[in-house]
Amino acid sequence: MNLEWKDLVQEQFKATSHVIREMNTKIISICQNKGGVGKTTSAINLGYLFSKIGKVLLIDLDSQANLSQSFGIFADKDDSSVKDFIDNPDPKIIQNVKKNIDILPNNPLFEAWKKNSNHKANLNYLLGIALKSVKDNYDYILIDCPPSLDLSFDLALYASDYVLILSDGHKFAMMGMDNILLEVAKSNKNNITDKKDIQVLGLAFNMYKKHTIINNVIDTAKELYDVFNTKIRDSVAVPESQAQGLSVIEYDINSNASQDYIELFNEILGKING
Ligand code: ADP
Ligand code: MG
Repeated sequence: MNLEWKDLVQEQFKATSHVIREMNTKIISICQNKGGVGKTTSAINLGYLFSKIGKVLLIDLDSQANLSQSFGIFADKDDSSVKDFIDNPDPKIIQNVKKNIDILPNNPLFEAWKKNSNHKANLNYLLGIALKSVKDNYDYILIDCPPSLDLSFDLALYASDYVLILSDGHKFAMMGMDNILLEVAKSNKNNITDKKDIQVLGLAFNMYKKHTIINNVIDTAKELYDVFNTKIRDSVAVPESQAQGLSVIEYDINSNASQDYIELFNEILGKING
């Protein structure tokens, strides 16, 4: 099993990498109007997989800064972070954390920045505008969104080409789904830039356990939404990998979560390339 998975991924990388190099940067927001469903975990693991086929920028838009912390960045209030980058896109604010992976970190002062930014013109577009200067350095930009649908979410959406929505299979996460779709529709309708409409990649279930109640939620979701075939199984390797500052794929490629993330990654590639 071990080698099979590695071979499979590498074959996939070889097959797609030359095609992907010729294409424009893809910006993907990872979101859900609920915390604890695996947004940050998916940014880490999909980010790692994307880094095998191109250059990746991870953007931490959650002021809790879990994504930044998972790469060992514990920003002090004086350290430059995503809010400073939006105000003045200095590439020095972006940090390299792994081969092919850079990060634009967050810190708790982002909350105050949001409150004080109301007066700014074209507010929702500011992240997208700031990214223009560095975008071409990357093949993939993944934005880890907070659970709220406040300005941070608008900043992410208005900069994005794609949206990936996560769910833990609980009813409340399904209610969040409608809120997200509404915001995407609004953003596409209001768009005043030359960016194409945001495409919803679909809904991916995470922390999957074989419980009837969760399977029922998934069945209902399939009737309403575009649901990924792959479910990321609940796997202790995920928190274990995070404790070591690794993606779950690096930590244990044989774990259920690694296999599932690789499958989900391939499904995503199929959608953004097809
Ligand atoms: P969010 O960013 O949506 O708030 P996180 O990615 O931080 O959610 O995940 C919440 C918690 O669940 C974390 O402690 C993480 O380690 C754990 N977790 C995420 N996905 C899985 C999984 N597939 N199996 C087990 N634990 C998971
Ligand atoms: Mg998070």
